Amino acid sequence: MTDTHNLSIPTTRELLAQLRDVMAGDGSPEDRLNRTVALIAAGMVADVCSCYVLRAGEVLELFATEGLKKTAIHQTRLRVGEGLVGAVAARARPLATSDAPSHPLFAYRPETGEEKYTSFLGVPVIRRQRVIGVLVVQNSLSRSYTDIDGEFLETVAMVIAELLGSSDLISREELAPVDGNASLPLRIEGITLNQGVGVGPAVLHQPRVWIHNLVAENPDAEWQRLRTAISHVQASLDYLFEQMGESSGEHRDVLETYRMFTEDKGWLSRIGEAIRSGLTAEAAVQKVHDDMAARFAQIADPYLRERLRDFEDLANRLLRYLAGDQAPRLELPDNAVLVARSLAPMELLDYDYTKLSGLILAEGSPTEHVIIVARALNLPVVGRIFDALERIDDGDVLVVDADNGMVFVRPSDDVLARVAETLEHSRQKVADYARLAELPSTTKDGHPITLMMNAGLLLDMPHLDSSRADGIGLYRTELPFMSMTSLPDVTTQTNLYSRILDLAGDRPVSFRTLDVGGDKILPYWVAPAEANPALGWRSIRITLDRPAILRTQLRALLHAAAGRTLRVMFPMITTVAELKLARHLLDMELERAKAHNQTLPDSIAVGSMLEVPALVFQLDSLLPLVDFIAVGTNDLSQFLFAADRNTSLTAGRYDHFSPALLSLIRMVQARCDIHRVPLSVCGEMASNPLGAMALIGCGVTTLSVSAQSIGPIKRMIRSLDVAPLRYYINSLLPSGEHSLRVSLYNFAQDHGVLL
Ligand code: PEP
Ligand code: MG
Repeated sequence: MTDTHNLSIPTTRELLAQLRDVMAGDGSPEDRLNRTVALIAAGMVADVCSCYVLRAGEVLELFATEGLKKTAIHQTRLRVGEGLVGAVAARARPLATSDAPSHPLFAYRPETGEEKYTSFLGVPVIRRQRVIGVLVVQNSLSRSYTDIDGEFLETVAMVIAELLGSSDLISREELAPVDGNASLPLRIEGITLNQGVGVGPAVLHQPRVWIHNLVAENPDAEWQRLRTAISHVQASLDYLFEQMGESSGEHRDVLETYRMFTEDKGWLSRIGEAIRSGLTAEAAVQKVHDDMAARFAQIADPYLRERLRDFEDLANRLLRYLAGDQAPRLELPDNAVLVARSLAPMELLDYDYTKLSGLILAEGSPTEHVIIVARALNLPVVGRIFDALERIDDGDVLVVDADNGMVFVRPSDDVLARVAETLEHSRQKVADYARLAELPSTTKDGHPITLMMNAGLLLDMPHLDSSRADGIGLYRTELPFMSMTSLPDVTTQTNLYSRILDLAGDRPVSFRTLDVGGDKILPYWVAPAEANPALGWRSIRITLDRPAILRTQLRALLHAAAGRTLRVMFPMITTVAELKLARHLLDMELERAKAHNQTLPDSIAVGSMLEVPALVFQLDSLLPLVDFIAVGTNDLSQFLFAADRNTSLTAGRYDHFSPALLSLIRMVQARCDIHRVPLSVCGEMASNPLGAMALIGCGVTTLSVSAQSIGPIKRMIRSLDVAPLRYYINSLLPSGEHSLRVSLYNFAQDHGVLL
C-alpha cells in the first residue's frame, strides 16, 4: 500500500475557498451539494466523493455522489452502525482503510457500483454536536489516506454541515440526534422544580454563537486572533481568581480547569491545524469542540460529561469573544421559554420576565435560589435535563409541563391541544382562587387558620394584596443580598425593609435575618469549602461569628420599623444560647438607637426558626425567651432524616408525611400552646395542600406559604373538617408506617377535602 497522495496546505485552503464560493453561489441546495462533492473529489484526487445524510429512523441516505452511480442517490440507505458508512456515524469518528471490501464491517450495495473502489475514508458530518451525516471519499487504487487527508475531509464536512443545516434539503426534524430519538417531537423527562405549564419559543440563555465566516484567507491572522481571544479569556479567569482570594473550593477548581485547558497543547494544536487548513479562528474552535463533543457523547461517564461541559463553556467564551458578541441577549419573544444550564437569580431577573412562560434547566434543585425567584414569578420550571442545551434549539416550540416534570420539544398538535385545555383549566382555577380571596380562611367546622405568605423579593409584594394573605410569615432577607454586588449597607437595607413594610401596611411581616451558606451563595462572599455545607458554617452560625453583618442588618430593621411593629426572627437556631446571643445583639442595637434619639419601633417581636431537631429538646427554656416560633420544614426534615435536601438521590426516600416528622410537629405545637407562643410553619410542606392538611391535623393553625399556593391552600382549608382529621392522625401516628401520605390522601378523598 503506497501513499500516493498528500494534500499541500495551500491546495486545501484554495479548495475551501472554492467550496465557500459554491455554497454562497446560485443553484438549489441539491445542486450546490453535488458541485461540492465534485470539487472535493477533484481536490483530493479521489475517484468518489459521496455525502450520506442521516434521516428519520437512524438511516443514512446517499444524497450526493461524484463517482458512484447517480441512480443510487436517495436509493442507497444504511442503518447507523451498518457498513463502513454506518460505523463512521455510530462512532462519530473518521474511518480509513486501504482495503474496504475485506474490512469486517463492509456492507456491499450493488446499486452504487462501488465494488471497484478499494480505499475508503469516511468522516462524520457534525452539526451542533450531533452526527447528521457522513462524508466519504473512495479510490480504486489501494491508498493509505493520511491524517492530513482525514483532517481536511473533517474540515470540509463542517462546511457541508452548515449547507445541510441551513438549507431545506432535509427537514429540521431530521436533524435529530443519533440517540434513538431521531423521530420528533421529542418528549424529555426532568424533574418538577416549580409547577405549572408554559408554552412558547425556546430562548437559549447563552445561545450558541453563530459562525457566519467559516473560511479565511490568512491563517496567520486567524491564529493571531485566536491567541488574542485566549489571552482575553485567560485575563478574565485571572480576574476571577483574584476576586476569590486564597480560598479553594469547587468553583475555583472549575476555573483552574478552564485555565489549564487554555494552555492545553493538544487542544491548541488541533485548533491550529484547523486554522491552517483554511478555517477562521471561530470555525476552528467550533470544529475541534464539535469533534470532541460528538466523541464524548458516546461515553456515559458523568465525570467525563462534566469535563465536556467545562470545555463547552470555555469554547463558548472564546467564540463569543471571537464573534464580538459579548452581551447575553435579553430581549425576548412573547411567552419565551428560557433554557439554561444553570442560572443565577439575578440573571433570571435581568430578563423581561413578563414575557417568560417557562424555564428549563440542565441542572437545578428545588431549593436553589433561582427556583425561589421563579416561584415568585409564577414560572413553571423543569430541571435536570442534562442535555437540554444540546437537544433544544433557539426558537423551537416548547411545552414546559412542570406539573409532570417533562418538556415537549416541537410538540405535535395533539400535545398542544391538551396543553391548551390544561391552561384553560388553570385559568379557571385562578379565577376561582381570586373569588376565594374574599372569603375567610376557616375550616368547614369553623377553625380559623391564619394564612400568611412567604416573600423575599419586591415583586412578591403585589400578591399580598391580590391573595388577601394575612401577612408575611417569612421574608427571606438573603434574596436581596444575593442580587447585589457587595454587602448592602445600612441605608440600602433600611430603604428596602421600609418599602416592604410600606407595602404590607398594617399586615405583619416577619423578617428573617440573613440565612446564607449551604446552597445559598453570595457572589461577593468567598466561603471556605466544606465537605458538608448543609451542616457547616451557614446561617446564624455565620452572622454570630461576624456580628457586624448581623448588627448592620438589625440596625436597618430598627430604622425601617420606626413607629411601627418589628418582627424579626433568627434562622437555624440550634441552642438556646445562640438565640440569647442573637437577641443580645438586637438589644445592643436598640440601646444604640435610643442613644441616638432615633424613633424606635412601637413594638418588637422576636422569633426563632425551628429547623434543627436539637432545639425541640430545649423548648421549655427557649419558649419563654421568644414571641413566636417559625418551623422551617425544609431544613428540619433534612436534619431529622439525615437526608440532604438538595440531592435527587435521596429525594422521595423520606417524606413530610412520615410519622416521625408529624409527631415532632404535633409535639412542638403542643409545647407552644402550653407556653402560649404562636407557631407557624413556613417550609415548602405548608405550600402543598396535602402537607398543609397534615399540619392542621397536627394542631398547626398558622401557615406561611408561597404566593401561588395561597388559593389552593385556602380552598383545601375551607373544605376540611378538622375534628375527624385530628382523630385520624392521632390513630395513625403510632402505626410505624414509612409514610402516611396515602392514608391522608384517602382521608381527603373520603371526606371531600379539595386538594
Ligand atoms: C426551611 O428550611 O424550611 C425554610 C423555610 O428556610 P429555607 O428554605 O429558606 O432554608
Ligand atoms: Mg431553612
